[in-house]
Amino acid sequence: MEIDAGTSLLGVVGHPVGHSLSPAIQNAALQHDKRNAIYLAFDVVSENFEAFVEGMRAAGTRGLNVTLPHKRAAFDICGTVTEEAQWTEAVNTLTFEGDEIVGDNTDVEGVRASLVELGGVLDGSKALLIGAGGAGRAAARALLDSGGEVWIANRTPARAEKLRGAIGRSAQVIPWKDLAGAAKEADVIVHATSVGLDGSDSVLKASDLKGSPCRALLDLVYGPNETMLVHEARRAGVEAADGLNMLVLQGAGAYTTFWGSDAPLEVMRKAALAAVGRG
Ligand code: NAP
Repeated sequence: MEIDAGTSLLGVVGHPVGHSLSPAIQNAALQHDKRNAIYLAFDVVSENFEAFVEGMRAAGTRGLNVTLPHKRAAFDICGTVTEEAQWTEAVNTLTFEGDEIVGDNTDVEGVRASLVELGGVLDGSKALLIGAGGAGRAAARALLDSGGEVWIANRTPARAEKLRGAIGRSAQVIPWKDLAGAAKEADVIVHATSVGLDGSDSVLKASDLKGSPCRALLDLVYGPNETMLVHEARRAGVEAADGLNMLVLQGAGAYTTFWGSDAPLEVMRKAALAAVGRG
């Protein structure tokens, strides 16, 4: 693709953002679809976030993805948000409609679609959600659709209580020390803490999952190799996936929002695998 005066600009804004796989994933899709557009990463500190978005809007940018630590600030500056963004109070995709900033949270769809690929959450399932930060909240919104119970375990209990309050009666808080016991009874497990990011740690061991009814475990963490938690789950015979697929699926959701057409999912998946060195 040749850059010229008609080239559209898109990107991801975060701090830090140097590790982001979004440019590799989105540019692969843009090239595949022969769009005259480029997707960059913008490292912007919190004090400059609002001015940055305003400048990008003024420059006619098609849209932006937002990552840590700006997802809440992005929610606050939107004039219109989707139901998913409203529920999670976080925005990871911004588009501009005239003077208005529109926000979506495609992390919710990323979790939902990843769970479907793992076999789905059946009506009435008992889902154990480990983590109650931003990703945990997106996962909670996705799990709510199953109509089952959501058990929340988080290191800091107050954060789990807050999320339980948002979900309502179908949710309960599990003390962090009882995590392994809850895993033995859960039908579905979603892990949304940052434990395991360095590849050497896991919140659960295979012995915690052996004999459990768990049909699917989704670890939102990903890296160059299978995470330790995914490894442990598979050792216990549980169908498991890490967060790379979710990253692709939330990116595909953003691509559709930016361009109004389906994303080339397989191209994006291949780019993500190559970008983490698994290609
Ligand atoms: P966050 O808002 O900062 O929340 C961090 C979560 O991790 C909290 O629940 C925190 O518990 C917990 N935690 C951190 N260190 C811990 C430890 N040593 N022991 C137990 N719990 C610990 O971050 P986030 O945005 O939710 O992200 C969480 C993870 O999800 C990250 O690894 C991120 O890479 C991943 N993620 C993946 C995708 C994807 O597309 N695959 C998207 C978003 C996020 P406390 O409340 O006790 O601090």
